[in-house]
Amino acid sequence: MSFSLATPATPDEAFEFLAQDPEATAILAGGTDLLLDLEEGLVRPRTVVSLRRLPWREIRWNGPRLTIGSLAPLADLEADAGLRRRLPSLAKAIHAVGSLALRHRATLGGNLGRASPASDLIPLLLVLDARLSLVRRGDRRELRLDEFIVGSRRTALAAGELIESVTIPAPLPSEYLWQRVRLANDISQVGVAVARGTTTSAWRIALGGVTPRSVRLPSAEKLLGPGLPAPLAMELAAQEAAQRAPFTTDKRATEAYRRRLVYVLVKRAVAAVAASADALPETPSPSRTAKKSVPAKARSTSAR
Ligand SMILES: Cc1cc2nc3c(=O)[nH]c(=O)nc-3n(C[C@H](O)[C@H](O)[C@H](O)COP(=O)(O)OP(=O)(O)OC[C@H]3O[C@@H](n4cnc5c(N)ncnc54)[C@H](O)[C@@H]3O)c2cc1C
Repeated sequence: MSFSLATPATPDEAFEFLAQDPEATAILAGGTDLLLDLEEGLVRPRTVVSLRRLPWREIRWNGPRLTIGSLAPLADLEADAGLRRRLPSLAKAIHAVGSLALRHRATLGGNLGRASPASDLIPLLLVLDARLSLVRRGDRRELRLDEFIVGSRRTALAAGELIESVTIPAPLPSEYLWQRVRLANDISQVGVAVARGTTTSAWRIALGGVTPRSVRLPSAEKLLGPGLPAPLAMELAAQEAAQRAPFTTDKRATEAYRRRLVYVLVKRAVAAVAASADALPETPSPSRTAKKSVPAKARSTSAR
């Protein structure tokens, strides 16, 4: 297959290339997804616009607000000391992606732009209420991640538009757990993200790998109520999640296995967030309360 490769040095140059032949132009960031699609003939662009020379790589904190440039390689994020300290769940989810070599090329914007139902980053970013800054020549808008992902590999990105950055309003006590057959270079059969709002105390649960797109599960979230959930509430929320999610069977796992995984991982992830002292600012003696209600085996951080 032949195509012309454009390597703009500025966003304005990129917008020009994108405007020339929008229907037959593909966007290249790290290329870990796009190059496979090209090789397999799944996409046949006349032009590929590489974003590699654009500057969107910053990791910036403004008070509690974290902004990450869309072209930041995942390996840079994973190695960032501030991110590891202030939002360890995100560093952990990033570490779950592929292999170290892959993470040196793969970008955050590429992961979201791909909108894979099996993404390890989308479920966690959903419970962290991430927003995307989208830019196009002379135009800028912000979308919540749940508005941006509209289906399996489908996004709300308009023709000629690029993801500039991703913003997380504030770090929350949160956890990401996943299950896969091989530890590296494999795709998760199920990913479960849980977070708890510090001011509202509301619980958030999102699933990846099970449905056509990653989703929040409001009916299971409600069962956890505000504050520290009792073991019974955790059990009911896990059961609800396992029943409600629209599960699929595919080459990675059966529907029944995914259902079981969701049940186990939701319980463990809620227990892990509840057990972290930071998660319980308004609860007296949080560490003692949490220890009482969390079974020892629920503290492990993977499904293995
Ligand atoms: C062997 C292997 C293992 C993998 N394992 C995992 C895994 O465990 N977990 C996981 O979540 N993913 C995994 N992936 C998928 C992939 O690595 C990630 O989705 C990665 O983050 C994609 O980033 P990229 O920069 O390489 O995207 P690219 O391939 O460059 O881009 C993908 C698409 O995203 C869009 N895009 C990219 N950047 C932008 C932007 N700034 N603005 C607008 N649109 C944009 C474009 O449509 C582009 O075609 C794996 C892939 C492989 C090949």
